[in-house]
Amino acid sequence: MNTASGPAVGKARRTPIRTCVACRTSGGKRGLLRVVRLGAGEDAGTVVLDPTGKRSGRGAYVCPTPDCIGLALKQKKLERSLKTPIGEGAAEALRAAALPAPPSPSLPEVSG
Ligand SMILES: [Zn+2]
Repeated sequence: MNTASGPAVGKARRTPIRTCVACRTSGGKRGLLRVVRLGAGEDAGTVVLDPTGKRSGRGAYVCPTPDCIGLALKQKKLERSLKTPIGEGAAEALRAAALPAPPSPSLPEVSG
């Protein structure tokens, strides 16, 4: 009995999936913050925040949440992904770009 060849697995197309370097989930509706290591010009090698997503260079993505940004900076996940140390300026910009945690809709009220 021959084992039938399975379904074709030839589709190895490289889809650029934006994945958060910290939590590894792809960006939802909020999208991810793009961080770019500039590839050309005077600023080559500089890591900057790229809110427009138009700057060219090696990019990495992170959720715009304090958790993921904190983790990405603390564990140097961005640096690893970009293969370059990110400056304090970029780190500051990232922290500033972090969205505040959403307020709890309803706190249990304890009265009496
Ligand atoms: Zn994340």
